[in-house]
Amino acid sequence: MSRTTPDHNAGQAAVRSDLHAGNTALSASKPQAASLIGMATADTHCPYCALQCAMTLRASAHGGVTIDGRDFPTNRGGLCQKGWTAADLLDHPERLTTPLVRDGGELRPAGWAEALDQVVAGIRAIRREHGPDGVAVFGGGGLTNEKAYALGRFARVALRTRMIDYNGRFCMSSAAAAGMRAFGVDRGLPFPVTDVAAADAVLLVGANPAETMPPFVRHLAGERLVVVDPRATPTARLAALHLQPTPGTDLALALGLLHVAITTGRVDAAYVRRRTTGFEAVRSIAAQWWPARVERLTGVPVADLYATVERLATARRAIVLTARGAEQHAKGTDTVSAFVNLALALGLPGRPGSGYGCLTGQGNGQGGREHGQKADQLPGYRRIDDPAARAHVAAVWGVDPADLPGPGVSGYELLTSLGTAGGPAGLLVFGSNPVVSAPGAAAVESRLRALDLLVVADVVRSETAELADVVLPVAQWAEEDGTLTNLEGRVIRRRRLADPPPGVRTDLEVLAALSGALGAPTSADPRTVFDELRRASAGGPADYAGITYERVDAEGGVFWPCPSADHQGTPRMFLDAFATPDGRARFVPVEHRPAAEEPDAEYPLYLTTGRVLSQYQSGAQTRRIAALPGGPFVELHPDLAGRLGVGDGDPVTVTTRRGTATAPVRLSAAIRPDTVFMPFHYAGAARANTLTNAALDPVSRMPEFKVCAARVVSACG
Ligand code: SF4
Repeated sequence: MSRTTPDHNAGQAAVRSDLHAGNTALSASKPQAASLIGMATADTHCPYCALQCAMTLRASAHGGVTIDGRDFPTNRGGLCQKGWTAADLLDHPERLTTPLVRDGGELRPAGWAEALDQVVAGIRAIRREHGPDGVAVFGGGGLTNEKAYALGRFARVALRTRMIDYNGRFCMSSAAAAGMRAFGVDRGLPFPVTDVAAADAVLLVGANPAETMPPFVRHLAGERLVVVDPRATPTARLAALHLQPTPGTDLALALGLLHVAITTGRVDAAYVRRRTTGFEAVRSIAAQWWPARVERLTGVPVADLYATVERLATARRAIVLTARGAEQHAKGTDTVSAFVNLALALGLPGRPGSGYGCLTGQGNGQGGREHGQKADQLPGYRRIDDPAARAHVAAVWGVDPADLPGPGVSGYELLTSLGTAGGPAGLLVFGSNPVVSAPGAAAVESRLRALDLLVVADVVRSETAELADVVLPVAQWAEEDGTLTNLEGRVIRRRRLADPPPGVRTDLEVLAALSGALGAPTSADPRTVFDELRRASAGGPADYAGITYERVDAEGGVFWPCPSADHQGTPRMFLDAFATPDGRARFVPVEHRPAAEEPDAEYPLYLTTGRVLSQYQSGAQTRRIAALPGGPFVELHPDLAGRLGVGDGDPVTVTTRRGTATAPVRLSAAIRPDTVFMPFHYAGAARANTLTNAALDPVSRMPEFKVCAARVVSACG
């Protein structure tokens, strides 16, 4: 493998040689069995979700690598099946080990020089014809902080494009927007995850950690837990109380809970007076959501509304948590705000041991949204339209602030503008598979096909890579150094423990080679990139200035903000003040409104989508791991299945206004009879995102993955 660390001051010739370094054989080499570099054991973290479970890799006696859970606050030694099997992808036979270029309609192996030359020539040609915004970049919430930062810098400095966004827009953006509105800053959990375990009452809205991040369940005591979910998920079955609202009615439910808190005298008036603003406007809206009205709309019994408020209000330490179930709606930001309002009325945020938090999903969902791969953002969670932020970051990057592009458009808007008149003609994708994960995926797929240049950097031939003009094989988790920021805002280390297969480069090496070729040399060394990120983030809301690799190693992680070397980091935020100009949290008045698409005579059912235990995101990695069970399915209540004349395992076709998908029935009494569920990890005929509605939240621009209107028919003969 070629590993290069270009000098920042290197001239164009040196950069050119970096572009062509590692010009490996044209034939694909089979990955060797993964082995640790000179170590019997090595400590790191799981490559998948935001819990970032700690693990120890061991060199096995037969070659290859085995994985054990390691004690850490988030996972207490536990791993889920995705973590246990994570090493299986390192030497997977489908691992990409050489670049691919499209030739005569087919992808064929190529050397790095040919592949990168083709990318650079394509970028230059598009820029000549369409200007800098003719080339777009799409990133991912699984990229390390260093890669997310380098991608944003690459877009703004090397490409000079404003067209950059990432798949986190599909994941956490509504909670991020609601957090910014209320608290002035967005950190998913503003407290350590151990506070959840110590809480006397937890309200969990739209999350199913028993399947999505099982070790998190160690922090949930069933007798102290209330779950809000339209499905009786394994998490809901643990809870003392399960509220099962009609899909798309969470916001009304939150207004009803606030109504009950007000009318039963449970509002913490002293806290509201001292630490918040805007309660009166919220109170007048909640007054209209009396319990019987809420029960009629949501299906949640009045008694359960009272019981939920009673539990939260009488607990010494109470926590409200939201996740994708609340967020992935065209009103997701307002829905999260409604639950934040409830938490504020009860006096929870900023009270030690209590609070409001969002459960982040992707591995670096938190850090990935802080350092510049979002359309409106510069590193350190700075706004790209803020002149002071532009001046600070431009100085770190050595460019004129006037040369930095302005804000671009959100992920779905970017994807659907591709190849249109005035839209980008080229796209570079890092760490994402939008052909499977984007809503209304068929429309997105057709836009990708319309591009003049599609470049995908990935470890396997994902569904998006299959459409590419150039595919670049990149290193994966155990083959690279870097940092991630977990769901608590704790910065942790990812370590290079194994050599990538020959012919594979890191994303940072790819970005450095392309940046250099485009006249904007940068480093491929993770530590150098992180040190630059620290300077770029200094003074920003997500301030990493005082965080070093050495501190992270010595302290087992450091919580941001951490503005200096002698700062302890910030495990608990808001204890004294919120990050707003006046230091007070803001109530935000929000109104319930229907889903963008409600069932009707033609499409009489609700379709909702989500994740399952064995799969991660678009499934590009986990679907390839033989030890992980599963396959697509359509979950139906037995009553609905009976009406449709289908049984367990029978194929059914689900149709929405976007298209159709077919998968076998999985019968479950855990789902409402008016609702069907599909996991979104699968491609082809069973792709759930062929069906989903891309109605966007007006604030976060998050699509409405969680609810649309559908009909289901038997696909038997
Ligand atoms: Fe832990 Fe998430 Fe990895 Fe499972 S996928 S082992 S819950 S980090």
